[in-house]
Amino acid sequence: MKIDGGCFCGSITYEAEADPQYVMICHCTDCQTLTGSAFRTVILTRPDGFTLRSGAPKIYVKTAENGNKRLQAFCAECGTPIYSTAPGDGPKVYVVRLGSVRQRDQLIPKTQIWSRSKQKWLGDIGSMRAFEKELVVD
Ligand SMILES: [Zn+2]
Ligand SMILES: [Zn+2]
Repeated sequence: MKIDGGCFCGSITYEAEADPQYVMICHCTDCQTLTGSAFRTVILTRPDGFTLRSGAPKIYVKTAENGNKRLQAFCAECGTPIYSTAPGDGPKVYVVRLGSVRQRDQLIPKTQIWSRSKQKWLGDIGSMRAFEKELVVD
């Protein structure tokens, strides 16, 4: 399906061709740190199925424990993570950060990876007290 999206401040926008079957949660500790959150949700594009429409993301090259390098693209203005991909040329799959995708409400994760480092409290989230909007303390 066609998806589109962008960063919080609006300087980066993109379109992509992606498969709703490949919506995933990553629980790895690198994603926890890079998102500032408990896990990351992503959708994989078709090979070379990502087109930047505006802006120029900043690229951080992350080196994994096994030496693999991944390009991490984000907005230098507002910090929104946009995608990761492999270095070099050739047809590439872009791992688009789901929170930046406009159609994210229709894209339900079907797979979790790196579950060995999953935060233990995630299983209890359904029973946690919840407020429709912000918590106002008075
Ligand atoms: Zn931005
Ligand atoms: Zn990860």
